[in-house]
Amino acid sequence: MKKAKLIFVPSTSKGHLIPVLEFAKRLVDHDDRISISVVFVKLPSDPFADAYIESVKASKLDRIDFIDVFQQQHCHSIVDNHSQSIQDHVNVVREIHTPLLKDFVVDLLSRSRLDSVTFVGFVFDLLFVSLVDVAREFNVPSYIFLTANAGCLSLFFHLMTRQGEIRGSPEFKQSDPDQLIPGFINPVPLNVLPSALFDKDNGYPLLMMTAQKFKAVKGIVVNTFEELEPYAISSFSDHGNPPVYPVGPVLDINCKLHTKFDLAQREKVMKWLNEQPQSSVIFLCFGSFGHFLAPQVKEIALGLEQSGYKFLWSLRVPPRNDDSGGVHCSEDMLPEGFVERIQGKGMMIYGWAPQVEILAHKAIGGFVSHCGWNSILESLWFGVPMVTWPMYAEQKLNAFKMVKELELAVELRLDYEQLKVDDVVMADEIEKAVKQVMDERNEARKKVKEMAEIARKSIVSEGSSFLSIQRLINDMISNN
Ligand code: UDP
Repeated sequence: MKKAKLIFVPSTSKGHLIPVLEFAKRLVDHDDRISISVVFVKLPSDPFADAYIESVKASKLDRIDFIDVFQQQHCHSIVDNHSQSIQDHVNVVREIHTPLLKDFVVDLLSRSRLDSVTFVGFVFDLLFVSLVDVAREFNVPSYIFLTANAGCLSLFFHLMTRQGEIRGSPEFKQSDPDQLIPGFINPVPLNVLPSALFDKDNGYPLLMMTAQKFKAVKGIVVNTFEELEPYAISSFSDHGNPPVYPVGPVLDINCKLHTKFDLAQREKVMKWLNEQPQSSVIFLCFGSFGHFLAPQVKEIALGLEQSGYKFLWSLRVPPRNDDSGGVHCSEDMLPEGFVERIQGKGMMIYGWAPQVEILAHKAIGGFVSHCGWNSILESLWFGVPMVTWPMYAEQKLNAFKMVKELELAVELRLDYEQLKVDDVVMADEIEKAVKQVMDERNEARKKVKEMAEIARKSIVSEGSSFLSIQRLINDMISNN
């Protein structure tokens, strides 16, 4: 029986590392010919990545090992600056990590020839797609693990087609017509496309470069499932695209990682939730980077009070120029008297929330979400209906898909961007959306519960994602 060694190159941000490592676990569970080395660059100030990798190591999976390139290459001079914008942060991480990874990969591949190890492929995170070229030089197949959805993948393919047709400067302009993207049933309005596509200097060229790499790989693994995005997935079969493998939902549903600060918080939150009736609480959480300025905080507070529903609100403010990473917030951001008035009706979390555990709790009846793809999958898995409040990256497109295409969420905003400081969502709008999602008669509530069942079936034996992993493994082995 042929053994197959894969090298995974993930990014260590939470929304990427968890699904990638959970997928690695699923692959080795699926087939005992597979072994995986996870090669990563972890910044010194990365307690989350530390804790998560340790927890995976502790589960003693004997066919997954970890190589920290940063430690191996004895780098000490890199500063992780939390006060950067998300885009700058991603760029810095990419600029620092890619050359380190590249040297490591070149070395690894050169040595593997001597050691006669058979690598059947690399699995790259989106952030490191430029390494596809290095793998190609050594004749090792590359795969991409996409932590976004199939709709987002169809946007990448669309960029390639559009580039061939466009005259003049290629970046998007607000005056462009709605886009006919093959993976979307409806024309996609310009205001739900990622804002990076309108940035001719950095964002657009970077996304185009990424799109080009998609065409150069042996396969694209997507954290979605066929029953959720049948239209998008069926759109990939023609046009010379590489094979697409929907293997999701890939989630860490037992996620119990908490820093000491979070642990105290978690206990308080869980105790409070245990005292609440079933489906009575609306949960608000806005991802790894979502934060608000004071005028918006005030409107959310008022909107929640006006709705009359119980709530659990994870609140963050913009990063300060220190090491807080934007996770701390004080009560003085809230309207006067709010904290006293909400006693017994609501609870605040100032910082990181144990989101998976919260969504799994029976007291949660709805989720106001920034529409990061992991958050959407988690919410669907636990059958919690969402209200859309996108913040950054491809989240507007996700919100559009959830509301307009899948009718699985209640629309609050589809085109919000946290950098648009003058766009404040008013209390009345928030109140209305919360009431809508918490209303038992709401259609989206019913549909989300049905989708939760389907999601769970897709990953077990003979389910669509289970079979897709099987197909991927067979292709990986025969591609070599
Ligand atoms: N998350 C969490 N607590 C928070 C914020 C986020 O546990 O306070 C988790 C969430 O459960 C999800 C991940 O962080 O697994 C965020 O990934 P997503 O794709 O939703 O958005 P991102 O933050 O990466 O943009």
